[in-house]
Amino acid sequence: MADRADERAAMAARFRERGIADERVLAAVRSVPRHAFVPEPHRSGAYDEVPWTIGDGQTISAPWIVAFSAESLRLPDEARVLEIGTGSGYGAAVLAAAGASVVTIERHPGLAGSAREALQNAGYGDVDVRVGDGHAGVPDRAPYEGIVVTAMAQDELPPALVEQLAPGASLVCPVGRGGHGTLFRYCDGVVEKLLDVRFVPLVAG
Ligand code: SAH
Repeated sequence: MADRADERAAMAARFRERGIADERVLAAVRSVPRHAFVPEPHRSGAYDEVPWTIGDGQTISAPWIVAFSAESLRLPDEARVLEIGTGSGYGAAVLAAAGASVVTIERHPGLAGSAREALQNAGYGDVDVRVGDGHAGVPDRAPYEGIVVTAMAQDELPPALVEQLAPGASLVCPVGRGGHGTLFRYCDGVVEKLLDVRFVPLVAG
């Protein structure tokens, strides 16, 4: 598989222009081979700013929102981070490449399995991939210095996720209905609106 480092460098440069300033996130975007997480037949467009389908009716988020969400966590160095919605594994790889110790949970066992394999092959085999309903978080590894949700929660921030935050840690989570909603950051009891977004729904059970 070609390395495609030039496409990643161009993508990181675009993100910098669009306001991403966290050097750890930009370096991660330059280093993680996104094409290894995008299935054929979309692999040639892996660095386009689009959310490709990855099977089981799910998508790999467009690259900019992955970088924006990671930066919005305002992670300390050596953070433990929980991601809800592993999908392709790309978002987890970006967090790991940015220096975090990553736990990620996916409700589709098939997707979790392929994500685990892609992470392993790309050198991120220490990412802890779980299968289950992310609404409950992953309490046995809590607390987290950051939690990011990559599917749209209905109506509210999942209460279990708020409980699994370390003091001063942020939860970045889209909340909405029918695919449309708002990306929020919750930190120490304060909720901030970040931007309008589209995500697949966070499914119960
Ligand atoms: N971070 C992913 C984005 C995947 S899209 C990536 O980089 O590719 C969101 C994912 O959330 C989908 O794979 C979907 O199956 C998963 N999902 C939806 N509801 C969930 C839930 N309740 N618990 C865990 N995962 C869920």
